[in-house]
Amino acid sequence: MPYRKLRDTNLTRLAESRFDVLVLGGGINGAVSAAALAARGARVGLIDKGDFAGVTSQQSSNLAWGGIKYLETYEFGLVRKLCRARNRLIRAYPSTVQEIRFTVSHERGFRHGLWKLILGAWLYWLIGSLFTRRPRLLSVKEIEREEPIVETRGLDGGFEYSDAYLHDNDARFVWHFIRSALDRGCAAANYVEALGAVREGNAWVTRARDTLTGREIQVRSSLLINACGPYADAVNAREGVSTAHHHVFSKGIHILVDRLTSNRRVLTFFADDGRLFFVIPMGGKTCIGTTDTRVERSEVSVTPEDRRFVLENINKRLHLKAPLAEGDIIAERCGVRPLVVTTLPGAGADNGGPDWMQLSRKHAIETDAARGHVTIFGGKLTDCLNVGEEICAEVQRLGIALPYADKVWYGEPPAAVREEYFHQARLMGLDEMTSPLSSEKLSTRLWRRYASEALGLLEAIRRDPRMAEVIIETSEYIRCELDEAARREMVVKLEDFLRRRSKIALVVRREEILRAPGLREACRILFGDDAEAKIEEYFGPPAAARSA
Ligand SMILES: Cc1cc2nc3c(=O)[nH]c(=O)nc-3n(C[C@H](O)[C@H](O)[C@H](O)COP(=O)(O)OP(=O)(O)OC[C@H]3O[C@@H](n4cnc5c(N)ncnc54)[C@H](O)[C@@H]3O)c2cc1C
Repeated sequence: MPYRKLRDTNLTRLAESRFDVLVLGGGINGAVSAAALAARGARVGLIDKGDFAGVTSQQSSNLAWGGIKYLETYEFGLVRKLCRARNRLIRAYPSTVQEIRFTVSHERGFRHGLWKLILGAWLYWLIGSLFTRRPRLLSVKEIEREEPIVETRGLDGGFEYSDAYLHDNDARFVWHFIRSALDRGCAAANYVEALGAVREGNAWVTRARDTLTGREIQVRSSLLINACGPYADAVNAREGVSTAHHHVFSKGIHILVDRLTSNRRVLTFFADDGRLFFVIPMGGKTCIGTTDTRVERSEVSVTPEDRRFVLENINKRLHLKAPLAEGDIIAERCGVRPLVVTTLPGAGADNGGPDWMQLSRKHAIETDAARGHVTIFGGKLTDCLNVGEEICAEVQRLGIALPYADKVWYGEPPAAVREEYFHQARLMGLDEMTSPLSSEKLSTRLWRRYASEALGLLEAIRRDPRMAEVIIETSEYIRCELDEAARREMVVKLEDFLRRRSKIALVVRREEILRAPGLREACRILFGDDAEAKIEEYFGPPAAARSA
């Protein structure tokens, strides 16, 4: 099967090669580690027990932000670091990570006065090196004029400041790094679970299972990087690696509803619990959240209380024709933030007492040099380029030579490639070939999603103009994108494509996807003869799917 080819080849390489580094976990932290190391010349392997970005890194708010809220706890160093990380991402990925305005409503009587918050926004702008547009004070009248859906009763004004958001979504962003690692020789496979690792002489031997077939392999590497996110502590405990850092978990949910406002900005409120609460554009829909609840386990799901909290908070703060109800929810996202805490000598790992909401969202990298073992704790998508750099430094410190130690391993292709792509797209009239389902031009979208690979997509369309046809009605994906996903994106299950390589499952209701006449054709392109089985795996048996 063509769709299995890429993964099968990588599985064989994982079993047969000896690596400098094996990365466990293909969320953002594992993906950037592999991309940076592979680009700089290390022999790298990566496995994930599920799909890449299938755990925390698909549940974020999609923001690359400098952490304005940490000003409240006077963590200026962290804010500076995150602002710089945000600026670097905006510079490196201008099509994907884009500045966006946050319109903040201020309720009378809130624990911080309006002027204090505005000063905070100016300070944030200064700490962020004046990189974004400057903050702006908003009167109630201006909020009403610019964003009529905001309920202004009880407000004494507001302000606007900038941060950035991931135009597609977090999981697709992670995929870019996995793809870039693969392009530079990394052997990576999804649905391969690390079962345990032992140190034999100067090498780690990791026992891993292909969770699709049950086959076991052994992967040999000089170093092991544990980037298992919320599972990192459990994996370390199994390996007998003890660390000063540990994780505690904060659960957060988002709901997706039809677009509430046509303006491309993030509406920002303080929820009843005093936390920042966002209304974020996502494709043609709106994403609302999030929550922050301490939980003990990393396996979480949206509860009726979570849903009620989000709906009640948003209905209080927006002036809609009809309040949002459960029936308006198109999709939900739910995950835990793995927050790093340090175990003090003699104390437990539980630093999540009264300061729970204030727990910092920094990352920490801890190394057991004697055993050649590195663990990445905590972190944010925003900080991912720093994680990649720090991992390279750590790996070098542990004795692995990186022949191209100064190579820039991230970022969009050079301007000349971009110009050539848009020139070719114009010559062939790409943007006139399909009626767009969103206001965005097809040429822009293909560049953002596929970078230099988009030139190959143009070539495919030139050979066969049907390649520009939209396949799953109600989604914007065209035939050649599915072809690309089947060949180059290691799509193993329908969910990998609908939820992570694309964001269809977030913006189109499940029953609409199932009813779409193009679904079967799309699945045939993705999975060949396995199409029906993959549809059933995702939607359940036909009878259950009909009542979905
Ligand atoms: C609600 C919410 C909102 C957020 N919003 C933002 C935001 O707006 N901006 C931002 O910058 N950050 C945000 N974050 C934080 C960010 O999403 C996380 O810090 C980040 O995704 C963590 O990535 P990770 O790679 O450490 O973990 P994960 O993404 O969880 O990756 C760990 C991977 O390890 C794999 N794994 C586990 N065990 C094994 C094993 N035995 N073998 C092989 N693989 C294994 C898992 O399958 C998983 O894919 C948010 C988080 C949440 C929950």
